[in-house]
Amino acid sequence: MESFARFEQSRGWNEEETLVIEQVKRITTDIIAPNAEAFEGRKEFPWPNFEAFRQIGLNGIFVPEEYGGSPVSYRCFLEIVRIISEACAATGITFGTIGASIKPILEFGTEEQKLRFLPRFLDGAIGALALTEPHAGSDAGNMRTKFRPDGDDIIINGGKIFITSGNVADFILLFGKWTELGDSSKAISAVILEKGTPGFDIIRLESKMGTHASPTAEIAFTDCRVPRANLLGRPGEGMKIMLSVLNKSRPSVASQALGIASAAMNDMIAYANERVQGGKRIVEHQAIAFMIADLATELLAARLMLDHVGHLVDSGTRDMSVEASMLKVKASDLAMRMATDAVQVFGGHGYVKGHRVERLMREAKITQIWEGTNQIQRQVISRDLITH
Ligand SMILES: Cc1cc2nc3c(=O)[nH]c(=O)nc-3n(C[C@H](O)[C@H](O)[C@H](O)COP(=O)(O)OP(=O)(O)OC[C@H]3O[C@@H](n4cnc5c(N)ncnc54)[C@H](O)[C@@H]3O)c2cc1C
Repeated sequence: MESFARFEQSRGWNEEETLVIEQVKRITTDIIAPNAEAFEGRKEFPWPNFEAFRQIGLNGIFVPEEYGGSPVSYRCFLEIVRIISEACAATGITFGTIGASIKPILEFGTEEQKLRFLPRFLDGAIGALALTEPHAGSDAGNMRTKFRPDGDDIIINGGKIFITSGNVADFILLFGKWTELGDSSKAISAVILEKGTPGFDIIRLESKMGTHASPTAEIAFTDCRVPRANLLGRPGEGMKIMLSVLNKSRPSVASQALGIASAAMNDMIAYANERVQGGKRIVEHQAIAFMIADLATELLAARLMLDHVGHLVDSGTRDMSVEASMLKVKASDLAMRMATDAVQVFGGHGYVKGHRVERLMREAKITQIWEGTNQIQRQVISRDLITH
């Protein structure tokens, strides 16, 4: 579509960004897209995709040059997650989560922590974020995991559910309450937990509706001892860290959603141009043509919004939480609508396995739920409407 081609031409990536986007597109075309169905079907973590990223040093986009990285703009990161998610949403989710786990180390970590952890990420380490508990979903402040200081160590007891990459991550940014500070949300603190730490167990993996190549783990801690040197920020600073993480990760969920939406749009247009019913291609039936026209318009608008939020972050805007919420709602609701309508355009062929749209519809749903449900995002947006 000419409109999308003109949009692409207008985006103004610099030389490094153009190069990394081309490298990622090559990997998605050659490695990720052709194998997405197979990893999904086998419910297997797509290690070859992350080996390909490691070989081009893709985690380096999160790390400043002084620590050996090759950073790109946040807007470019969002585009990379969108491109990866178009090929395989599970891989996009995993990659976005790695970024979300590195950023707080840069923002709140000590020099010693940066020097200790960033080289491991540069070498391809996988990161995870652990907030959610059985009693603390949308109400994350209600978490019960405890961090008890003990000399040079912290002893962790509790558990988390629904942790993306929890079983494969080299590092987990883990949130819990500092026992000396009581039980309110002011006690929430954050530690960096390394894979293999004694007392840290994987309880089980969830059986899900979609994104099967992105494992979702229940994890538990029993007298799990981590060095106090792994505490991120000060005790009680966890809420601040959490909000900063979520503000940056919500736009990346929007990128995942727009990757899924882009894939659904492309498949839908190709099929509508090919399938003949009633003596003409179904795209020539006005009911189908107008449905796709509306969706294409929405997709272009959402992609412009994604770039806008990227620009806000890159220009140093400190509080873009409302825009991040608006973007997450817009992109994820569109992904769900786009994937559902794509199945409709494919008719019965869309409902059975064999065409990608069936998978896309199952993948789209999670983008409305995680990183704060869309109800919670609407609360953030509506609070901004109230005059004081
Ligand atoms: C596949 C998957 C991957 C995930 N990955 C991670 C991860 O890596 N790390 C992590 O920490 N968590 C992760 N999560 C957890 C996810 O972020 C939570 O599921 C989500 O925040 C919602 O919490 P909940 O499931 O407990 O739902 P609840 O909070 O119980 O919400 C249930 C319903 O009530 C609504 N609701 C709740 N509170 C309010 C309110 N105040 N006002 C209006 N409506 C409300 C919600 O919108 C929802 O519709 C993941 C979840 C899934 C399914």
